[in-house]
Formats: sequence, structure tokens, C-alpha cells
Amino acid sequence: MRSIKAHSGCGSDRSCSVVRRGEEEKMSSVPDGKKLLRSPSGLRMVPENGAFNSPFSLDEPRWVPDKECSRCMQCDTKFDFIRRKHHCRRCGRCFCDKCCSKKVALPRMCFVDPVRQCAECSLISQKEMEFFDKQLKVLLAGSTFAVTLGTSEKTETMTCRLSNNQRYLFLDGESHFEVELSRMSSVQILTDGTSPGDSDIHTYTSLMDSHCLSEGGTTRASGMLLHYKPMGSQEAQQLRLEATDDKKAASLWLTAMHKAAKLLYESRDQ
Ligand SMILES: [Zn+2]
Ligand SMILES: [Zn+2]
Repeated sequence: MRSIKAHSGCGSDRSCSVVRRGEEEKMSSVPDGKKLLRSPSGLRMVPENGAFNSPFSLDEPRWVPDKECSRCMQCDTKFDFIRRKHHCRRCGRCFCDKCCSKKVALPRMCFVDPVRQCAECSLISQKEMEFFDKQLKVLLAGSTFAVTLGTSEKTETMTCRLSNNQRYLFLDGESHFEVELSRMSSVQILTDGTSPGDSDIHTYTSLMDSHCLSEGGTTRASGMLLHYKPMGSQEAQQLRLEATDDKKAASLWLTAMHKAAKLLYESRDQ
């Protein structure tokens, strides 16, 4: 279960902005099971129950304590009454106004409004927005695949989509089943290679630094092999999805899933 990091290790000599971070107060409850929290970084809209957090979410970073930063960590400007310090909401490091002036959306930390970020972090956050603006919508809309469960010989044509709360893959055909993203242990994107039989298989590790699958490049995502543990089971199941007739739509969905897997692993590894 993910929770907001409480800074229990903070000594009494810490600045109040650091101490307050562990005491986010619940402000109001809204009907869809979400609540507003105010942290020193800004307003956040988070699920009532931490177990319902999006698997793509990130915890807020620990802010570098004020007394440990007397200079901007980018341009080395010394802080004083005029040159105030600002914390980057994504990495928690300390910067002058000039080096930390950009306000960028950060949906992975559930901020309601764009928040102040350093140059490095704002670039990462801007790139992630492409996932949230475009690819997430592709995943939610779903695509059709020939689905094979386990080592069965039988394949079924099913629509595969990400659930609205981003926590499950829903597969619907004659039957329905779902895979909880947090219970996935590996995601391999299968691609049509440039030469026959040259299947480029991306595994957990190679996913992290693999080239990005492009929509119009020489390699096109054509399938996905995933392993997951069904609820209440420790035994990993295999699920194979293969593009059927609309290969272009399937490839777009798989490319989005490839990006989603990267974010997922990053969230788990933090
Ligand atoms: Zn600076
Ligand atoms: Zn930063």
C-alpha cells in the first residue's frame, strides 16, 4: 500500500515547512471516493483509500531541509531575504526562483494544479504529459486482440482496455476477466522484426532503456506477453495478446502499454 511519506525522522530543529509535510490534513470528502489533501507542495486529489491509488502514482519527495541548503542547487546563488529558496515539487531539491520557476502539471503525484518544478524535472513531467494526454486515452479506449490464457491451445477474440481507475486490464469477449496491474510481474512487447523471425522481445529490464516503439518505424508492436499473479494465488499466469485484423490500432494500444509499463516499474521502484 502506498501512503504519503511521513517524516517521522525529522528532528525538532527542522524548518516548519518540513515538519508540516507529515501532517497533511484531510480537507473534504467528495462522493467518488477521493479526498482533497493540502501539502506544502499544493492541493492533491487522492483516493480515500490508499490501496486504490493509481499504479502510476509517485509519492511526494522529501524536501531538502532549509538548513541544508544555503545556495541554489542549480546556479549556486546564495539565498537571503531577497533571494528566496523554492523546493521543486518533483525532486524536493532547493532552487532560486529563476531555476525553479516553471509550473508544470504533475498528475502522478495527484496535484490539482501545475506545481513548481526545476528545469530537469519539468522536462520529465512535460514528457509524461504526452502519456496522460494521449496514450492513457488509447489504453482506456481499448483494442481487440486474440487472447491466449496460459498454455492453452484455445484463443479468444477479446477487447482489452485499462479500467478507468487505471488499476486493472479488463478483457472482454465471451468471457470476462481482469488482471490487476500491481500483480503483473513482467510485460513483454512483441514486435514484428525488420527481418522475418526477428522478433524483438522487450522484457522488464530491456523495457527500462529500450528504444521507444514508434508508430511508423520499421518495428511495429504486434503482441504482448504478460505474467501476473491472479488474486489469491502466488502462481504466475501467462497471458498472450496478439493483434488480429486492425493491426494499426492494436499497435498503438501496445505502444501505449509499453510506455505504461515503464511508468509502472518506475512507480514500484521508487
Ligand atoms: Zn538558481
Ligand atoms: Zn526537480
